[in-house]
Amino acid sequence: MTAPNSKVAIVTGASRGIGAEIAKQLASDDFAVAVNFASSATEASKLVVQLRQAGHQAIAVKADVSVAADVSRMFDEVEAQLGKVDVLINNAGILQVMPLAQHSDELFDRTFAINTRGTFNTLREAANRLNDGGSIVNFSSSTVGLNLPGYSVYIASKAAVESLTQVFAKELRGRRITVNAVAPGPVATELFMHGKSEEQVQHYAKMPPLERLGQPEDIASIVSFLVSPAAGWVNGQILRANGGLV
Ligand code: NAP
Repeated sequence: MTAPNSKVAIVTGASRGIGAEIAKQLASDDFAVAVNFASSATEASKLVVQLRQAGHQAIAVKADVSVAADVSRMFDEVEAQLGKVDVLINNAGILQVMPLAQHSDELFDRTFAINTRGTFNTLREAANRLNDGGSIVNFSSSTVGLNLPGYSVYIASKAAVESLTQVFAKELRGRRITVNAVAPGPVATELFMHGKSEEQVQHYAKMPPLERLGQPEDIASIVSFLVSPAAGWVNGQILRANGGLV
């Protein structure tokens, strides 16, 4: 059962995939959890019901992370319902695999709006709103190290997230807030599976020496560590989690 004075965590893009698993993990770590979503309201409320039935404190909060006013309102709602925020997990992200030459302006803008500006928006809000002693985990991708064809714009949007992470960790000097990023390799979620044949999925699964796809639980346990006192000395780092792929 979550104690009434639990620390408070926001997980962006928590309606499914890695974010939903992080929300479950942080709830069982005794955080009161805000499950953010942009459009998947049904999935987000199902998850909140599941967490509450297990005795945890959880709310669903609709906000498009690419819109600064939404992000500000999300912090207002979380503060009003759960209390001041201790932990921010910037998990929301999109991927569309497309050779650079075929990328539309719209897809370029959308990828940067959600992956990069979305992270920027929540970090800027967190600068004034996060409790001292808190922690932030951003989401990059191991594709930044692989330079895979078809991933140029996605990789560029995530490379920018890595830079934001490293500089922001330094800008929060004196606040005892850690800022790190996790950079997963292929994880079996909708984002990765979409548009791939079984053969392509198997190809990716065989790439790391551990010879399997990552599971959302593999990533959630790393996030759990990064926001725990055990990781209090890890700051400004990019942690690649990919079974040894790169
Ligand atoms: P996913 O299954 O597609 O889930 C993405 C989540 O982000 C959904 O809950 C979605 O909710 C939310 N979202 C999308 N746009 C949003 C917006 N504008 N505002 C708020 N929420 C938004 O993806 P995933 O695989 O779990 O990926 C999670 C993170 O890990 C991403 O940052 C991704 O780049 C990164 N990553 C994933 C992999 C992989 O192989 N899966 C590898 C490396 C890195 P709505 O439906 O409500 O929009």
